[in-house]
Amino acid sequence: MDISNQNLDTTKTDAKNLWKEIDNAEYQYNATIFSADSTTESDETTSLLLKRVNIMDLEKRKEVYGLCGECNEPGTGYLWCQPCNAKRFEENFKNWTSGNKNIDELIQQSQLNAFFCTKFLEWIPFEKFENVTYLTRGGFSKIYSAYWPEGNIGHWDIENQKWIRGSRKVALKSLNNSSNISNDFLNEIKYYISGHFPACNTVICFGITQDPNTKDYIMVLQYFEGGNLRNTLVEDGLSGIHDAGNIHKDFHSGNILYNNYNDILSISDLGMCQPVNDNERKGICGVIPYMAPKFYVDINIQKQQIFTHLE
Ligand SMILES: [Zn+2]
Repeated sequence: MDISNQNLDTTKTDAKNLWKEIDNAEYQYNATIFSADSTTESDETTSLLLKRVNIMDLEKRKEVYGLCGECNEPGTGYLWCQPCNAKRFEENFKNWTSGNKNIDELIQQSQLNAFFCTKFLEWIPFEKFENVTYLTRGGFSKIYSAYWPEGNIGHWDIENQKWIRGSRKVALKSLNNSSNISNDFLNEIKYYISGHFPACNTVICFGITQDPNTKDYIMVLQYFEGGNLRNTLVEDGLSGIHDAGNIHKDFHSGNILYNNYNDILSISDLGMCQPVNDNERKGICGVIPYMAPKFYVDINIQKQQIFTHLE
């Protein structure tokens, strides 16, 4: 995607990089939407691994992320200004389409609302991927690995007026019979990019692509060399999900991924393992090891019960 306009607007060439480096990772990489009853103060006494910056706390955002060199407002995340980047994305809406109105709207809304580079989706044409290799099959999906040479957007380079991307290996999750995708399924994808979650503890969803042969839609997800395993440290990610008033619904070891590069555990399958057809959504679905018998009594489990299963 090339949406730079450096030759059209000379005033922007004067913009200076005013972002702050956050090498010691004391705070989360993006600001968070706190629950409605909290104050505008950021969370300094949290039990989470990293302190949370309240999106309403302008002073803290300035202190932690610095100022946007274009609008001079505090960043909404590391190297990220939500209002300025939303404008850039919107100017490019006319240059792509998924062929599905609902998916287009989901991607557009994510780009307009993103507080940070891991919090939006892109439409990624399938031909952008190389070395697509089948890995495994889940309850409602097939997983492939692939190399994405162009890679995901990291941030906007203010001084050179262009997106900075980084090539990477990704996991492609192809959902069975998803050519007719439901609104409910699309709503669950939103959990991946919600402003309620910290950047590091849920698997990053970079975007959506489509199998040119089956027409099935494919999630483009962060690839984990370390595979998946079970560990109570994922409480950090789960609490973000629960703070947003959601439950995971299909939490098991296969959904907990370990990144051995930076030693971070992440929760995956945020509803992705659910059938995409509305009529199939009732009852237990997906892979469900490690669950005590009482779990099966009521699928509408509360978060305390989820933590019980982790002990
Ligand atoms: Zn800005």
